[in-house]
Amino acid sequence: MTDRKKLIIAIDGPSGAGKSTASRLLAERLGYLNIDTGAMYRSVALAAHRAGIDPENHTALEELCDRIDIRLEVDPRGGLRVMLDGEDVSMAIRTPEISRLTPLVAAVPAVRRAMVTLQRRLGRDGGVVLEGRDIGTVVFPDADLKVFLHASARERGRRRWLELKEKGVEVDLEQTVREVVERDRVDMEREEAPLVRPDGAVDIDSGMLDVDQVVRLLLDEVDRTLRKRRDTGAARKG
Ligand code: C5P
Repeated sequence: MTDRKKLIIAIDGPSGAGKSTASRLLAERLGYLNIDTGAMYRSVALAAHRAGIDPENHTALEELCDRIDIRLEVDPRGGLRVMLDGEDVSMAIRTPEISRLTPLVAAVPAVRRAMVTLQRRLGRDGGVVLEGRDIGTVVFPDADLKVFLHASARERGRRRWLELKEKGVEVDLEQTVREVVERDRVDMEREEAPLVRPDGAVDIDSGMLDVDQVVRLLLDEVDRTLRKRRDTGAARKG
């Protein structure tokens, strides 16, 4: 992968650790494409929900993945626009109901196969920040830079609650923390591509940091990675 000029950056971690915002800002700073893989799994869950497909029905989910079209577009006002069959579903995929359904759908091997294929196609040429649960372990285990971004379940629940509140969705804080813990459990205990810290990943605990501090740490890591790559290239030539 060392011949590519632009990096493949993999950011993994549990929900609510601040991956989405940090990844988006990092991608913006670098002029890279931001690939929110959680949004892709959420879109499959939304499509399944609308089609009345039970998450246990693996065959129906596989067929669904074959026929739906998921795209990530840059929103001119900042952020990512998630398109499902041409419809902007950026908001619809964030409801508590779809958040609960997504880990169940994401645990289905055929769904993961379809999404991983799509993610590899989008990222293979580099110049990408991919964020999710299995990027550094499964999608791009040889990524140029791997990061594991995490925080305590309580802090992550609190952030998710705030985020929903700002969008006008009133939910109970304790309930939100419980949902975060439950989602972690499903993501960590599933057989296929469980959430784990990837080998060789840089560890960042975002609990005490604001998003600008996280982005600064990430930019430092990008610099370090580019420097290391230059040095290795120079040593090989010399
Ligand atoms: O990151 P976000 O909270 O939007 O992800 C929603 C869900 O999608 C996660 O709880 C997880 O079940 C699933 N997911 C996954 N693999 C990824 C990204 C997300 O299984 N790479």
